[in-house]
Order: sequence, then structure tokens, then C-alpha cells
Amino acid sequence: MTQLEWTPEVDTTPIHFGSELGADQLYDKCMALAKNLWWSWHPEVTNLFRDIDPIRWRQLDHNPIALLREFTPERLSVRATEMVLHSRVNYAYRRLREYLEAGSTWASTNAGVLGAKPVAYFSAEFGIHESLPIYSGGLGVLSGDHVKSASGLGVPLVGIGLYYSHGYFKQHLNSEGYQHEEYIETRVENLPIEAATNEDGSPIMISIDTRNGRLLAKVWTLKVGRVRLLLLDCNVEGNRPEDRELTSRLYGGDERTRIRQELVLGVGGVKALRAAGITPGVYHLNEGHSAFAPLEVIRERMTDDGMSYEDAYRETAQSTIFTTHTPVPAGHDRFDGNLIEEHLGPLRDSIGLSHDGLMGLGRVHPGDNGENFCMTVIGLKLSRRANAVSQLHGHISRRMWRSLWPDRTEEQIPIGHITNGVHVPSWLAWQMQQLYDRHFPAHWQSRLAEPDLWQNIHNVEPGELWEAHNALKSLLLTFVRRRISRQCRRRGESDQMLEEARHLLDPNILTIGFGRRFATYKRANLIFSDLERVTALLHNTERPVQLIYAGKAHPKDEPGKRFIQEIANLRLDPRFRGRVAFLEDYDINVCRHLIQGVDVWLNNPRRPLEASGTSGQKVVLNGGLNCSILDGWWAEAYDGSNGFAIGKGTSHTDDKITDRRDAQYLYETLENEVIPAFYNRDRDGLPRKWIKMMMNSISTCAWRFSSHRMMMDYTRYAYVPAAGGLSVDMSTR
Ligand SMILES: *Cc1c(COP(=O)(O)O)cnc(C)c1O
Repeated sequence: MTQLEWTPEVDTTPIHFGSELGADQLYDKCMALAKNLWWSWHPEVTNLFRDIDPIRWRQLDHNPIALLREFTPERLSVRATEMVLHSRVNYAYRRLREYLEAGSTWASTNAGVLGAKPVAYFSAEFGIHESLPIYSGGLGVLSGDHVKSASGLGVPLVGIGLYYSHGYFKQHLNSEGYQHEEYIETRVENLPIEAATNEDGSPIMISIDTRNGRLLAKVWTLKVGRVRLLLLDCNVEGNRPEDRELTSRLYGGDERTRIRQELVLGVGGVKALRAAGITPGVYHLNEGHSAFAPLEVIRERMTDDGMSYEDAYRETAQSTIFTTHTPVPAGHDRFDGNLIEEHLGPLRDSIGLSHDGLMGLGRVHPGDNGENFCMTVIGLKLSRRANAVSQLHGHISRRMWRSLWPDRTEEQIPIGHITNGVHVPSWLAWQMQQLYDRHFPAHWQSRLAEPDLWQNIHNVEPGELWEAHNALKSLLLTFVRRRISRQCRRRGESDQMLEEARHLLDPNILTIGFGRRFATYKRANLIFSDLERVTALLHNTERPVQLIYAGKAHPKDEPGKRFIQEIANLRLDPRFRGRVAFLEDYDINVCRHLIQGVDVWLNNPRRPLEASGTSGQKVVLNGGLNCSILDGWWAEAYDGSNGFAIGKGTSHTDDKITDRRDAQYLYETLENEVIPAFYNRDRDGLPRKWIKMMMNSISTCAWRFSSHRMMMDYTRYAYVPAAGGLSVDMSTR
């Protein structure tokens, strides 16, 4: 067996703690593990928590603090003895300490300039684990993965976000298949967060003046491995009742709520950093929500260092990086002059800007009084370095914003791209990790972004890879049946429906997964464009297909909700019975099960509206194959041998024509490529060609679309140059 950092069995160092811990000591160590989200990407530690009480673990959304709080130290100690957990606790605790204290990391040799002046990474959401509901979807999960890779590589980084006491909604479908939203208050005492303190130890409280009163926020701090997050929370005494609700929901409320949340995130975020005694060398604005931040940095520089506005502007832009995620003009936040004046008025006074001067920073044409203030525009103007999130999205963004630089050609528009990636340890199934442990060199987890490492997948026996995949597929089907049964019970459905749910889906059938936000451009129902053709596929006697769906629609997105309804109700249609499942409440947990167990991950957005997409990258790690429109990351990943392309990477100006044509392409790809490759078996029952594609997918994509590679790119092409280190041009790499 090869040696791996994270396999307790191969650790030969003797444990000096003595085998049995005292009850209090054991409890404290478990709590210390639970209070750093490092545990969430270490299956050994996750399994340890699960083994304390598997049923409660599931019921409590995999929240170790909530679980431990149900135990006294004495009861925990009894349980630990029964389950032989003492040495596992000791081992995990020791690894965490070693991790936190490690002196030498990738960044200590590659990003020394960031040493004392960390990157401040602003994001409206962070998706780190399902037990911490401060994310809604892709943007949040990307931020979570970004932070985890910063920790893994030792990049000095502090995350700035908002604390949403009611998070994003939980989704339930009623018996008509219509989405209902439920907001549940999170209990602070069950979360791994603590009040952040000033340098003198008192709790941090920041205040922001508006034209119409003062806004206050307290600050929570949270540990994600070596990285710290600061989360601002407006639910404090001294705020007006409506302001105490300001940060309660993610993406809830109207424009006014939105600008106030963004004011707290950007301006409040800079103030929180300062109160915590952190002097960032780099400010990274992940999407436009936080783009007010540089204005506060300009104010600091003018007030503290006596700089002129021009100098402060230039220096701030030099240290600011802006990442755009939105390829549709309507997707960018815009505010009218009154909202801007009300909220940014006092700040613009203190930096000596007129109202028109400030508005001009948020306009493509500064003098155009008809133009609203756009967060992306100010983000682009106040940052020296800007990037899109895939190669194709880079082209789209340069074209979209070229009028900001009227005397440049499209290629000269200073928006580069760094393609998104995923945090391998968080998305990799335990069974696949074990397979890699057997065939990859020792310490492979410290080399995730190296292409050579992943070539080792070609040395694995096809049968072994196929077996690991099928074990995961069967776990997924168990999960789906359990969830669907629960959904049926909640809706009070008949015993017959419940019985059907218990036997839903078949492990021998080609299983296609589709999980993502139900924005209409993602066209969740594309495959149902031709009902006859799709039923013929699903019920083909030799080569059937089954589909698993999951996803939330934004509460105000009625067309998105109708898509959900259309698909959820197929279970009542005899033509689809038993072949289509809709899982409610898509979150990190549901996503993890889906991407680890499907044969094929379907992605059919209207090109080029998917800036990157990351769920398909998670699928790759676990041996699933992507079948996707050539959009976002897949446009640069697909090479003809590592998955399936739908269409040829074109789209028509008329959406109806595009949709009709893409539906044809989708059916053709499924009928002519996907289904035959899956069902063509050799004498051993193995789909050789398919398994070869699984291997190609892993070897070509796993390193390249990892968040470790992404973090290395940000560090080299953005963070280090912005901090005054050697400059590398993003566009010429
Ligand atoms: C990864 C992930 C996403 C992002 O998926 P896309 O491919 O960008 O749609 C969204 N939601 C959750 C819960 C995820 O884990």
C-alpha cells in the first residue's frame, strides 16, 4: 500500500498521548476539530463524526458542533470507547495541529511578497459545507473552493463575506410540483463562528454613515484551515428594526436591500479588516457585489497617508483585482443616482468627489446622466487587473465591455481569464480517493495541479475503475430512493407511491444527472423538447436511460419554477414513471451525491451564457463523463476523447432556433455516442471504450480544472503582481 498523508493505517509514528483520553480532553479535541472547517474535506474526520451517531449526523445536516452539543463529555467518552474512536480523534487532532503549524508551503516559496500583507477576498457568498448555509449556488461554492485552496497552498488570504442568519431558502415542492421556499434561522451556537475582536480584545463593531442614518454591523470570524473568514452581520442593537434584518437572507429583498447589503460587504468589509488589525496587500473582488470596497480603501489612503485622490485611486487600483462572472448585460447590478447618493454620499464627501464624479465611476459613459451606476463598471475601473472565469467568457467579456476602452481593439481590452476549478479533496468520493491511493505515488494529494500525476489513472485496471464507479452509483441510488420516499411522505402520498419510490431507478441503467440552478438559460427541460423521442430513449428495452434532476429556482423566477414543475410532475406520467426523479433542495450535500454517482452529467445551457460552470469538473474527479454544450469550461476542456460534446459550439441569434437545433444535437449525441458507448460490453461485461473515456477525462481535466491550479494562477498572474512582486501578463501566458 502506498503511503498517503491521510490514511491512518499507514501512519507509523507512535502516538504518545496514551490510548485513552480523559472525557473532557476527548470532548475538547472533538470540539476543536469541529471548529475549523478543515474537517469538511478530510473524510477520515468526517467519518469520525459520523461514527459518533450516524442517524443524528444525517439529521443534523452533517453539523459536528450540533452533534457534539447533544453529548456530555461522559456520554461521548462512552460512545468513543464503544466505537474505538480515541486514537482516531488523537490522530485527526494531531494532523490538524501539524497542518496549521506547517512552515513550508507552496506559497512560502512562490508568493513570499504576500507574507505580511494578505489577500482580502470579498464574496457575497461562501459555500464551504452544507452545515454552514451562507451560499446559494455556483458563485458561493467557487468562493468556498477558492478559500480551501488558499489554505492548502498556504496563500495568505482572508475572506470577507456576510453572515446570513436565515441563509438561502430550503426548497419543497407541493403536490402540484410547485416550488415553496422556507427560510430557517440558523442557530449561531451550532456554527463554528466566534465574535471577531479588535486588537484590544473587545468585539468588533463597524459603522457606515449614509445620508439617512448610520448602519452598524458586528463581525463573526470563522476558520477554514489556515484561512480566516470575516462575516458581517447587521442584526445588532442600535440598528433600525428593518436594518437588523438586512443581512438575514441571501439575495432576498429589493434593490434597496441589495445596495445596503453591498455597502456592508464592500465598505463595511474594509472597515472590518482594519478593526481586526489586518492590512491587506491585495483586494480581490469576486463579482461586482463588493465593488464599493475600493472607494473605502481610497478614503483610508487619503486620510491616513495624506495622498491626493488621484494617487490614492492609482495605488488602490494597482492592488485591486476584479473577477466578473456574468456574461449577460442584465445580470450586472445597477443602481439609480438616488440610491447611490443615499448610501455613498458621506463617503464621496470625504474623498472629495462630486455626485456626478462618483456616478461617472459606475458608468460606461461618465457624462451620460441617463445611465445607472453599474457595479461591474466601477469594479473594472477601480482595478488594474480584471478577469473572466473561462477562456470563452474572456472573449465575451472583452466584447461586452469594449466601450469602456474606446481606443483599444477587442484583444487589447484588459480583461483576461482564469478558468474556475474545484477543490479536489472536497468533491472526491472516499472510494475514488482510495483507488487513487492504491495507484498514485505517495503524497499525491500535495500535487493536485500537476498534469503528470493524473496520468497514473491509465495504469489502473479498467475493471477496478468500473467497480469503484458502480459502488458509487449504487450509493447514489440509495440516496435518491431515501430522499424521494421522504418527499412522498411529506406530501402525504399513497402507500403505492411510497413503495414505488423505494424501488425507483435501476443500477444497471445508464444514469444521467442534471443538477443546477433552474435559470431558464440552462434549459433543464431541453431533453423533453420531443416527448416521443425521449420516451423511446428512456424505455428502450435493450439500452434504457434514466434521469435524476435537482435544482432551485430563484424565488422570483416564475419561468424557472415552471421548468421545475414540468420535470417534477413527470413522475405522475405513465410514460416517465420510474425513469425520472426530481430531488428537492439542491445543496452541497445533494450535489456531492449526484456528481459522485452519475454515469453522465448533462449540461445544456444556451451558449455562451454559462460563464464557466463547475459541477461538471466535480464529476470528472469521480469518473463520471460530461455531456455538454461547448460552453464555459467545457469549451476548453473537450478534446474528442474525454467526454461528449452537444453541437458544434455555435448559436443562432434567435433563441427559438438555437433551442430547436440544440435539442436535435442533444438527441443525436445521446443516440449515436453516449448510449452505444455505455452499453457496448466486452466478454467481461466491461464497456472498454467508456472506461477509456473515463480515464481520459480524469487525466486531461482533473489537474487543469482543480482550484489548486486556479489559485496558483491567481497568485502568479494577479496577487503577486498586485502586491508589487514580479509582474506577469495574464494575456500572454
Ligand atoms: C458546484 C455547485 C454549483 C455550481 O454548478 P454549475 O455547474 O456552475 O451550475 C451550484 N450549486 C451547488 C450546490 C454546487 O455544489
